[in-house]
Amino acid sequence: MTTETNDVSRKDWDTYFMDIAYMVATRSRCNRRHVGAVLVQGKKLLGTAYNGAPMGVEDCLEAGCMIVEEYELSAVEGTERMIKKERCIRTIHAEQNLLLFTDRIDREGSTVYVTDQPCWTCANMLANSGVREIVFHRPYPKDSDKVALLMQRKGIVFRRIDPYEAPAQTSRAVVL
Ligand SMILES: [Zn+2]
Ligand SMILES: [Zn+2]
Repeated sequence: MTTETNDVSRKDWDTYFMDIAYMVATRSRCNRRHVGAVLVQGKKLLGTAYNGAPMGVEDCLEAGCMIVEEYELSAVEGTERMIKKERCIRTIHAEQNLLLFTDRIDREGSTVYVTDQPCWTCANMLANSGVREIVFHRPYPKDSDKVALLMQRKGIVFRRIDPYEAPAQTSRAVVL
């Protein structure tokens, strides 16, 4: 028996990097949503990011969320209906900040771990970023179908880490 198989408390890589993404998410100052993302190249951590307002600008805790209302198609008890949803647009999404703060050359063939399934815009940008794999935890059903199709077309591995339990004190309920 090797030490490795004996040590049940040792985290696997997926858990290790997703835990870091959740720790990063705790830096977010938008109370509607705490999202964290990390860039990994060959098991090496090359970048971290969370959702937030641009640097030097008032954030959601200082100025309140910047809410927009949108109607979206949603399945309610088996029938599709237009549902009014509220979204905070003050923040740059974690995935987009990750792209702003990492270099293209570091991203080629890399993996992104992100606490929440990317929205359409983030997925579209990630698809053009050099990233080869995206691992998420909390589902975001709104854009799920078109994002999955895009990833398939691009040949990007797109998968949910499941089962998975976020570290204590890091998982904040998501307002959809
Ligand atoms: Zn906000
Ligand atoms: Zn997004």
